[in-house]
Amino acid sequence: MKSQGWRNVAAGTALSVTGAAVLLQIAALLPGLGISTQFIVSGLIVALAVSAPVCLVLLRQQARIAGLHSDLAQAFQRLERSAQVDGMTGLTNRDVFIEMTRDAMADRAGWLIVADVDHFKQINDDFGHGVGDRVLVAIGDAIQANLRAGDLCGRLGGEEFGLFLHARGGREAHAAAERLRRTVSELEVSTFAGGEIAPTLSLGIAASQGLTFSEVMRRADEALYEAKRQGRNRTVFASEPTTENHLRLVAAKA
Ligand code: GH3
Ligand code: MG
Ligand code: MG
Repeated sequence: MKSQGWRNVAAGTALSVTGAAVLLQIAALLPGLGISTQFIVSGLIVALAVSAPVCLVLLRQQARIAGLHSDLAQAFQRLERSAQVDGMTGLTNRDVFIEMTRDAMADRAGWLIVADVDHFKQINDDFGHGVGDRVLVAIGDAIQANLRAGDLCGRLGGEEFGLFLHARGGREAHAAAERLRRTVSELEVSTFAGGEIAPTLSLGIAASQGLTFSEVMRRADEALYEAKRQGRNRTVFASEPTTENHLRLVAAKA
């Protein structure tokens, strides 16, 4: 117990003994009771013998409650974090990524990238889910390592990842996606049998300007689908905005 704790025990005990002494003195002064000094001393000893352990027990309880309180606060923090972060890759989870991207899009335009691991089912089937998980962790690390300050990333689910790059030219956004694609294609993920596998990513990019989140997501998904269709391990840009989007852009600028 800390010295403050001992001080509290001493103070509690002193208070109790002083209280008992005062009461006994008052009782001794009352006519007709005939309380002897011996009785007063016994009363003080009893007060001391009872109050010191009671104070000690109360103090221990208080320390225990404080400990439980701190455990609870830490558990709550962990819970809050696990509700936001994907436990396997450490990236933001889907809901939080979408929410953050919506907020970011309201602030300024950027580029949404949807990246999907190629033939991931085959990796699971050939090497087991454990190796599949290793691939996801390695890709999550690569995504984080390639991110610029202010950009966002998250695991959208399964073997699909999302990135939101803040405003830069389309060429730069494409270069960033390609950099990530190359980094992933150079990964060597070890299998349990001692071999190594090199996963690949297909990526779809769409500009967010003038679009709602659902629209830009749909466009990035379409571009991703096109990357898969063209043979995988490549980056595809969403086609130019539709007339409808152009009209909305013009209206927004007016
Ligand atoms: P494509 O190139 O067209 O994307 O093919 P694919 O095999 O990657 O896609 P498909 O949708 O057929 O398979 C995705 C697989 O990802 C199926 C599912 O079991 C697996 N998967 C989803 N989440 C996890 C996970 O957390 N860990 C592992 N190991 N596998 C997962
Ligand atoms: Mg896939
Ligand atoms: Mg997929």
